[in-house]
Amino acid sequence: MSENSSAHPLSAYGWDDGFADGFAPLTGPGVVPGRIVRVDRGRCDLVVADGDGVRHVMADTALVTTGDPLNIMCTGDWAAVDLETGYVRALLPRRTAFVRSTSSKRSEGQVLAANVDHAVIAVSLAVELNLGRVERFLTLAWESGATPLVVLTKADLVPRADTLAHLVADTEAAAPGARVLAVSAETGQGVDALAAELAGGTAVLLGQSGAGKSTLANRLTGQDVQVVQAARDRDGKGRHTTTTRNLLPLPGGGVLIDTPGLRGVGLWDAERGVAQAFAEIEALAADCRFHDCGHDSEPGCAVLAAADNGELPQRRLDSYRKLVRENTWMASRSDARLRAEIRRDWKQKQMAGRRMAEQKRGGGR
Ligand code: GDP
Ligand code: ZN
Repeated sequence: MSENSSAHPLSAYGWDDGFADGFAPLTGPGVVPGRIVRVDRGRCDLVVADGDGVRHVMADTALVTTGDPLNIMCTGDWAAVDLETGYVRALLPRRTAFVRSTSSKRSEGQVLAANVDHAVIAVSLAVELNLGRVERFLTLAWESGATPLVVLTKADLVPRADTLAHLVADTEAAAPGARVLAVSAETGQGVDALAAELAGGTAVLLGQSGAGKSTLANRLTGQDVQVVQAARDRDGKGRHTTTTRNLLPLPGGGVLIDTPGLRGVGLWDAERGVAQAFAEIEALAADCRFHDCGHDSEPGCAVLAAADNGELPQRRLDSYRKLVRENTWMASRSDARLRAEIRRDWKQKQMAGRRMAEQKRGGGR
C-alpha cells in the first residue's frame, strides 16, 4: 500500500505529505504509520489504516521511551508501529508540541499534545472577561508552534450584539495575530465559522475548566464524545470535566484533540511565545534607545512612551511584565535545579573520595 497522503484513510486523522515523508525512512515489513490517541503506562492506543478505513491498535512504547520528559510520546504524535511485534518502533519528528510546566513543584515540562496546528482557546462569556488569562493561554499557544484562535464561548449569554462586539474587540486587542470568534454551543452561533477554521489540520481545545470545551467538542464532532459533568463544586473551582484525551475527526475535516482542562497553567521557556502574544510591544521596543531596554525606567524607552500617551494600554504593559517576570523565574528555577543536581553529584564524589581515603588509611595500619 502506498503511504501517499491523498485519499489515505488516515488523512481524516491529520496524515499528510509531510508526515508521509517523515515515515518513508521508517517503513519496513509490518511497519505502518499510526497516530497516538492515548498513552497509558507503557502502552499506547494508536489509530492505523485498515483497508479503506481505520482501526485502533494497542502497542508497547518501551522501544521509544527515553528519560527526557519532553520526549515522552503523547496524544497527537505520529509513530511507526510494528504490527507484527506490537511495538512502536519510532516517533516521527514533531511539528509542534504543547508543553506546560507540571502542576507539581518540579519545573519540568510536560507535553500535553503533539502536532497541533490550531490552538483553540476557549474563554467563557458567562464570567467576566479576564484578558490576562487569555494572554497567558495565547503565550502558551504561540510557544507550541500552533496558531492560536480565541473562541468566546456561551455567546448566547450575551444577548446584546453591541456588547458582544465590544467583548470581541477587547479580546482582539489582547490577541494580536489571532482570530477571535464568538460561539455558542447552545444556539450553534459561530460554530460553522469555527469548524471552517479547523477544517485543515489538528486542533486542540484549551481553557479553564468550565469554559465550555467539552460541550463545544460535542458540537463540533456531532457526537457525545465526553460526558459533560453536570454537577460542579459549590466553590466554583469545578473539577476536570474531561477525563480522557481523544483524537476526534471532525465531520467538516480536521481532527480535534480533546485534552483535560489545563489548571494552573504555567509558562515553560515561553520567551518566543511572549514575544508573539505581545507583538505590538515587541514592535515598539525596536524604537527603544537601548538594545536591551527593560521598558522599566530607561531613558528613550518607546514602550513607556506609548504607555504614557495611551497608545499602549497600561493593562497590556502590566500583563506583559508579569509574564516576562514569570518566564524569567521559571527559567531561573530550572537553572537552580540544575545547580542543585551538580552540587549533589559533587557531594557524592567528595564522600566517595573520603571513604576511599579512609579505607586506604585503614589498610595502611
Ligand atoms: P469544560 O470544563 O471546559 O469542558 O466545560 P463544559 O463543556 O463542561 O461546560 C461547562 C458548563 O457550561 C456546562 O454546564 C455547560 O452546559 C455550559 N455551557 C457550555 N457551552 C454553553 C453554551 O454555549 N451556552 C451556555 N449557556 N452554556 C454552555
Ligand atoms: Zn523600552
